[in-house]
Amino acid sequence: MKLRVEDISAKVKTLDYHEPQADVNRLLEQGPVCEYRVQRPYAIHLSYYRSGMEIFFSGSLDAELTATCARCAEDFPLHRRRDFRFVLAPKSIGEDGGRNLNAEDLEFSTYQGEEVDVSPLVREQLLLALSAPPVCGDGCRGLCPQCGINLNLNSCSCSASNLDPRLDALRSLKVSRR
Ligand SMILES: [Zn+2]
Ligand SMILES: [Zn+2]
Repeated sequence: MKLRVEDISAKVKTLDYHEPQADVNRLLEQGPVCEYRVQRPYAIHLSYYRSGMEIFFSGSLDAELTATCARCAEDFPLHRRRDFRFVLAPKSIGEDGGRNLNAEDLEFSTYQGEEVDVSPLVREQLLLALSAPPVCGDGCRGLCPQCGINLNLNSCSCSASNLDPRLDALRSLKVSRR
């Protein structure tokens, strides 16, 4: 989404639109977190204004995803929302480096020319929202480390030998008492 700098004024404007999912999915495939796929164009809400040559953005994104659980390897639907803020300054100013933006939670980037392209910035925010390995639920029991069965759906007989070896020692004590 490109905005013309001269159309951005001191008066706050809002913009609601969707970003296509293909670019994000390409980045996700390259890893390091490759367990997510964005299912459809994702919704962006932006508020923005200009102060001098600096452009201030705040907003949120909402994405519908399919994720592969890091424990049980099953796909599941997932919704992610992220709030963000960032500031864009003309490149020449950004390179001077002598400026202090005192709000530490504002992300700072630069723009060049008469247009700003917010798509790469929004994409980065979505990737940040997807940085942790996904888990289908807090109670996911994962796969059996021995036979690989999905322990959410089935049980297996490996579990006895998964027990703490100290318990094995207790069991053998009982046996020897007989
Ligand atoms: Zn799971
Ligand atoms: Zn098993």
